[in-house]
Amino acid sequence: MISSFFVESLQKQSLLIHGTSPRYFEMKEGVRESFCPPENDNGELFREHQKLFLQSLGIEREDLFRVRQVHGNQVYVLTDAKIIVDGVRHQEADAIVTHLPDCPIMILTADCVPIIIYDPVNHVVGVVHAGRVGTEKRIFSNVIEVVGREYGSRPRDLIVSMGPAIGGCCYEVDEPCALPFIERSSVDSGFVVKAGAGKFFIDLPEANRQEGCEAGILKENIYTDGPCTSCDNHRWYSYRKEGKTGRLMTLAMLRPRR
Ligand SMILES: [Zn+2]
Repeated sequence: MISSFFVESLQKQSLLIHGTSPRYFEMKEGVRESFCPPENDNGELFREHQKLFLQSLGIEREDLFRVRQVHGNQVYVLTDAKIIVDGVRHQEADAIVTHLPDCPIMILTADCVPIIIYDPVNHVVGVVHAGRVGTEKRIFSNVIEVVGREYGSRPRDLIVSMGPAIGGCCYEVDEPCALPFIERSSVDSGFVVKAGAGKFFIDLPEANRQEGCEAGILKENIYTDGPCTSCDNHRWYSYRKEGKTGRLMTLAMLRPRR
């Protein structure tokens, strides 16, 4: 059994499948195994776990679309259903968006914010890897702009969820890392808090939430109450807390419209 993370506002969408995988799973009762463990980015075990994850979500496919994540702000638009998975795999990007049904898209994280973005009007979905650097480069704004340009998605129609990520409670950085966030935050914006001499806490989900609101997404349509990967490290991987660690898979897939 794989106890993935789901968000209610997305579960209510009958034509969308989504989820974030946990760090452990049980195939036999009482036997716990690491899911997507360290240093296994494209090995056999990784592909095996990918398959198990797809099955657990009720998806009848053995493969999925993912890109080469580079902590940038590029968005890959998946427009061709005939393209092979390996053709996409080497594209450098940190988000994938698509209107194609039955094409699962996935990003990997361990602390960085996994964002799912869904437009129920135009039936378009995206997954985003928004870490500190990606957030600094405003990847989420790029995704909102790309779905608008490519598919006509309006921000006010978008439904967004942020999955397990390191929270403002635990993500401490030094001043050079905090500076870009200090510069863009107002006094009461709440995503940068001074922690001590030259140290700051950054709240990445909150920074992305505010970015989404600024782009016109409705406050009530952005879910940010996901668990902190460092506080709840028994359930989710945290690169910050563990160093060498596995990865969480965040997946989304459109079901065909009738
Ligand atoms: Zn925490």
